Amino acid sequence: MKRILVVEDEPKLRRVLVDFLETEGYEVVVATDGEAALDLACQRKPDVIILDVMLPKVNGFDVCRSLRERGSRTPILLITAKGEETDKVLGLELGADDYITKPFGLKELNARVRARLRTATPRPERAVEQYSLGSMVIDFKQHCVLRDGRPLPLSALEAGLLKYFIEHRGEVVSRNDLLDKVWGYDSFPSTRTIDTHVLNLRKKLEDRPDAPRWLITVHGVGYKFTG
Ligand code: CA
Repeated sequence: MKRILVVEDEPKLRRVLVDFLETEGYEVVVATDGEAALDLACQRKPDVIILDVMLPKVNGFDVCRSLRERGSRTPILLITAKGEETDKVLGLELGADDYITKPFGLKELNARVRARLRTATPRPERAVEQYSLGSMVIDFKQHCVLRDGRPLPLSALEAGLLKYFIEHRGEVVSRNDLLDKVWGYDSFPSTRTIDTHVLNLRKKLEDRPDAPRWLITVHGVGYKFTG
């Protein structure tokens, strides 16, 4: 069952939305202000967030921005007020995926929610499955590095880190990026934890982990993958 977080402070509209979505077979989680929305988005991991712009405490735009900054990729459908063209533009700029303008029909809402659920499923054609690095092959399906024909298993975190490095090869990647994108926005490992995992990766990839060729430290910032 897909879970939807409804963030709406207006009781009447909230009731209508919840009833409708539950009838459509969704599990519905409700927040009545922006602060609660951020907490619930983190704790309940909804598949889609329906987010009103005008909210107490933290407004919808800031909720949107905050979630994206923490690395959340949950689709967000913004509810904007009638005639507020700037709201739509700003919302999309801040990371919302779509918007719907009040007043809206429930059929339209449902169509948009379904569209968001469809796009939220991972696109397999973009996933890296194998990557050649020097004489090694990194096999993400088997979760291992093939080194001289010998498979060295990768932990899920190491595989996640490596994927992120490959996707950003040649770029300087900060520890904050790694925290957000690999660990996820609801866990808070220390930077030392990150360094330890990078060190473990080096032991698997590098001929000389103390003088790395592929995973280079950029002092004061983070790392750079040169493969
Ligand atoms: Ca409102």
